[in-house]
Amino acid sequence: MVAGLLLWGTLAVVYAAAPLSPVAMRTLSASDPHALIIDVRAALDAGAYVNDPAGERQALWWMGRAGINVSDDAAVTEAIARLESLGSVAHDKLAQSYGGFLTADLRIARGDGGGVSDALQAAALQLDSPDPAHRALAKFQLCDAYSMAGQYQQSQPLCREADAAFGALHDDWDQAQAKNDEGNNALSTGKYSEAAVFYHEARALYEQAGDHSQRLMVGDNLAQVYLKEGKPEQAIALSRASLEDERAAGREYDALVSQYDIARALEAMGRRSEAMDLIASTVGETRKAHLDALLPDMLQEQSRLYEHNGSLKSALLASREAYAAASKHWAASLNSQQAELAARYAAREKEIRIHELERNNQIKNLKLKAAEAVAERNALQLRRQRTTLEASGVAGLGLLIGIASLLLFMRSQWRHSRELRHQALEDQLTGVDNRRGFFRRANALLGRHDADELPLHALLLFDFDYFKHINDRCGHPFGDIVLNVSLQCLRDIVGKRGHLARLGGEEFVVLCPRIGGTAALRLAEDMRMGIASLAFPNAPDDLDVTISIGVALFDGVRCHDLGSWLRSADDAMYSAKARGRDQVVVAHAVNDLLTQVGAGAQPAA
Ligand code: GH3
Ligand code: MG
Ligand code: MG
Repeated sequence: MVAGLLLWGTLAVVYAAAPLSPVAMRTLSASDPHALIIDVRAALDAGAYVNDPAGERQALWWMGRAGINVSDDAAVTEAIARLESLGSVAHDKLAQSYGGFLTADLRIARGDGGGVSDALQAAALQLDSPDPAHRALAKFQLCDAYSMAGQYQQSQPLCREADAAFGALHDDWDQAQAKNDEGNNALSTGKYSEAAVFYHEARALYEQAGDHSQRLMVGDNLAQVYLKEGKPEQAIALSRASLEDERAAGREYDALVSQYDIARALEAMGRRSEAMDLIASTVGETRKAHLDALLPDMLQEQSRLYEHNGSLKSALLASREAYAAASKHWAASLNSQQAELAARYAAREKEIRIHELERNNQIKNLKLKAAEAVAERNALQLRRQRTTLEASGVAGLGLLIGIASLLLFMRSQWRHSRELRHQALEDQLTGVDNRRGFFRRANALLGRHDADELPLHALLLFDFDYFKHINDRCGHPFGDIVLNVSLQCLRDIVGKRGHLARLGGEEFVVLCPRIGGTAALRLAEDMRMGIASLAFPNAPDDLDVTISIGVALFDGVRCHDLGSWLRSADDAMYSAKARGRDQVVVAHAVNDLLTQVGAGAQPAA
């Protein structure tokens, strides 16, 4: 960890100060890919490209290329991710296309059939670029993708165009790349002499560009041609030269391919045991380096050598292992494809899930808003109801007040009407019924009268004796007091036995329903004595206040209506006056009864 930190610090200082030039990176990506990958990562981590997106794009491109060269998938993937990020964040089309080309290379190296379409998409981003270098690179990358994918017919014209374009730009290194691919296409289609020409030209251009490693790499390809053309010595010379260089740069894959080529050349030269030894050690090293993609070819070559040597059992074992290795490699490739598809599927699922969640959230928000709207509407309704209630409360209160006022008014009216009624039916001075009141009450009584009803109703009519004299002597107001006090006294005496009424002046009557003659005479006598015994304040000592009473019973014969009844009573009263006053006189109709009672009352004459 400490060593790692120290290394980190050193690299950060170095690359923050001076990142590698594009040419240096290009050279290093082929000659020492591992070193380039470490350098670029350190420079990126040190922030060497923070203000240099073009430099970052270039560094990532060569880091990716280096990764492809040494099968460092992690480095290629990292470069692709960073380039795609640059492409989307900085809208850098070139970075986007570089990422696409690296993706294409990675997929083609894995045996994935989708690489060419990636390359086409990436090239489409640059083929209309105003920069001829960008257009040339796009063409070359397409030519390379088709070539690597084994589609030589499609590749060759693009390689030729790229070759010409780089030539016009005097870009030796890139033109060499295009020529190498043209050679590969020719070799793969059996055009060995044509291929040899392209490889020679490519080697010369790499030489001019000062890239020895690439020159040796093309030498390996040329060695293949020499082998096909039956020139194994020249092939071995080229392959051995490459091998040294490849070993020095740690490019194990290329080194093992070179060894394989040498073994085949040795076999072609008839040096079978040397070839078998070399292929055996190459197979061992390939297994050890876990270069599974190389192993099937190596084992197949070994099997072929065993077979030529007559070792059929060993040949069979090698062939089986080759088949197993190929299966394993393709299975791994298939797994990686599956993993990639699964990752894409998971990402898509995630997108769908996020979309669903967002949609659910939108629905929730909508529901929430709807609920809020409903709540608001309810609150509004409630407020309106309250307002209505308050208004109706006010109205109700108004109504109540109105009703109360009306009731008060009605009460006052009722009181007034009662007063009026009282005034109409009562005597103001004494408080007893007036004449009208008497007639109403008497008529009502007689209206309900049953002819066979017993005991009989009685009418006690009385008048104050010599009242004119009292008024004259003591004054009219005193006369009023006499009337008032006397009636209070009589009211107490009569009680519930009858109803007092003033017929006019100082003449009164007592209407006694169902009293009978005896009780009526007793009452009349009680009344007479009551008044006669009354003492009035400030009255002269010799002042006597007496009343004369005439009694009449409603018998239905002589007293058969109110008129006859009143007249009988009045007649009896006048009889009492005539007999000396202060006495009770019974109407003749009831003489017999009264005689029986014998209470001092006199029958009327
Ligand atoms: P008599 O015994 O015959 O009845 O003699 P009298 O003086 O009472 O004669 P009369 O009944 O005819 O006269 C009634 C008098 O009573 C006349 C009137 O001035 C007086 N009087 C009537 N009403 C009132 C009243 O309300 N107050 C006073 N103070 N006097 C009244
Ligand atoms: Mg009188
Ligand atoms: Mg009178």
